[in-house]
Amino acid sequence: MRRGIAAAVVVLSGVAVTGCAPAGAMSGASSPSPVAAPVAPPPPPAPTDLHPGTNHAYLADAYAYPAADVHAWLVDGAKAANYPQRRIAFLTFDDGPSNSTTPKDLDILRAEGVPATFFYITGPMGLAKVDPAVPHRALAEGHAVCVHSRSHNYHELYPGRRADAEHVVADHERAMGDLRGVFGADFAAGCYRYPGATCPGEGWPPLMRRWPSGASTGSTGTR
Ligand SMILES: [Zn+2]
Repeated sequence: MRRGIAAAVVVLSGVAVTGCAPAGAMSGASSPSPVAAPVAPPPPPAPTDLHPGTNHAYLADAYAYPAADVHAWLVDGAKAANYPQRRIAFLTFDDGPSNSTTPKDLDILRAEGVPATFFYITGPMGLAKVDPAVPHRALAEGHAVCVHSRSHNYHELYPGRRADAEHVVADHERAMGDLRGVFGADFAAGCYRYPGATCPGEGWPPLMRRWPSGASTGSTGTR
């Protein structure tokens, strides 16, 4: 106990001398120039932290594929750059998350050692009503999160069965804002799955223009 007290006194004394001496107290000495305290380097990120600029944690770097590459593989086949020499399965889940089902999905994926990509509804049907621990768990356990929709409302997004570019883009922007609200401003996703799971015909190019290589799905594969 004594040692603890003594150490505290030394520290306090040191602070008084170097930082808090009143002006003129050090007679004869020129004004000391302030010495910046050494700044401790930030701690290294944990493997379970979001890799900034992506939609997954650092640990998923080992098996995540850019959605643009996957899109090229689907469109151009073996002629595409980086075409894989082995078969890759992308396991994806739409329409989550939920407080009841998603944790069960995550339990199974963890037991099987399989990463997946979750395409979230971010509005009141999904993310907005879910415990934030659920999406954080998905990311920390090596899965990717992408945008499915905010509203998932076909009448709003595809009035007359034709995609409304303005509504689709606005819905996507709001969904990204929702995801950044959960994962932070560094969250970014280059993949998107239209509600209804397929290209809704005419009028769908707005997101293709945004991502010239394609609004594709899938960003994590099997290990
Ligand atoms: Zn859906």
